[in-house]
Amino acid sequence: MLYKYHNAIILEKSRRSDEIIKKIVSESLKVEDVQDISLMDIRVGGEFCDNCDACFDAVFNFNLILSFYVGDVDCVEVGRQKQAWRYSFLTDKAVHGLGDLSALRIDREPILSDKPLCYIDQNILTQAVNKKDTLSLLLKIQDDHDIKIVCSVSHFEEIYKISDLGSRQDFIDATVALTGEINLQPCSEDDRIKLFFENASITLSRVEMTSNSSEAVEMLKNLKDEDRRLYFEKYNNLDLRKKIGQAEKIFESLSDDEFSRLVCMSSPPGPRKIDFKGLTSHSSIRDAIYSLHNALDLISYKQDKSTRTQRSSAHDIEHLIYGSQCNYFITNDTNLRFRAVEIYSFLGIPIHVLPLSEISSIKI
Ligand SMILES: [Zn+2]
Repeated sequence: MLYKYHNAIILEKSRRSDEIIKKIVSESLKVEDVQDISLMDIRVGGEFCDNCDACFDAVFNFNLILSFYVGDVDCVEVGRQKQAWRYSFLTDKAVHGLGDLSALRIDREPILSDKPLCYIDQNILTQAVNKKDTLSLLLKIQDDHDIKIVCSVSHFEEIYKISDLGSRQDFIDATVALTGEINLQPCSEDDRIKLFFENASITLSRVEMTSNSSEAVEMLKNLKDEDRRLYFEKYNNLDLRKKIGQAEKIFESLSDDEFSRLVCMSSPPGPRKIDFKGLTSHSSIRDAIYSLHNALDLISYKQDKSTRTQRSSAHDIEHLIYGSQCNYFITNDTNLRFRAVEIYSFLGIPIHVLPLSEISSIKI
């Protein structure tokens, strides 16, 4: 994602003030230490250009450090205000990173399927690319059980990130072979998720135009992990997390108050458990799955610890949203399976969540 700065001096000011804030938040810098820093070095004067990220960051940082220095805010509040600033920065990037939408091409045809739909996660697609056996198995099961295997635009977003063009093409070929270019996409006219037939190259070109925005959305999701430290400190306790990890019907087991507090960290369809039942529109399902998934993050339920897997949690959410329209959701990611079962059952959506090894057990 592009970080704009109008010259090297302003970039340095924003970087240095960021480091000072980091130290204040980690409590390694006290008010008296701030006195030793020459605030003039990080202050933005007449050079403010009103047009670059570094200028806005530097001005915000300077004012926040100053408030800490004069005692208006403590280190916890500095952390919260900086976090809120990051949210607005990334939200802005998400909204304005959409590229030239006038060139956006949509050339799709709605499809009605009377067959049960089987959504495959990206890791199943990867396996189908790497092992010919898996691809044949999936095609055979599709025929034998008279089901329809589907992917979504979210697969294309992941495929677009593959930089090796040969490998990218392999993924496109596998997707086309499995789905016949029939994928789940959002339909803005009636706010539903529907099946469409569309040439894969057109879907991919649309994904390309929104890629900057998607990256910001993904970074927003990662930022939410920091919320736990700031607002839900009790879930940092390992024993409590183990206890939660073993619970079933996790959302039902939370008190109404705790549930509201957790889901309201993102934008839920409503603060009450009942607000999550019987949803049909794309936007309400999206809000519901996003806030439930985020709530599971906040309480560290079945959460991957490595950065690599954390980075894909934005995609997990997308797959759960599109998968909600299907009869089967197939993934080899164990943690995602646990989360999918909790989220779908809480929403009252009857989906069978299975690993690939159990796909043959599908009974129609
Ligand atoms: Zn500037």
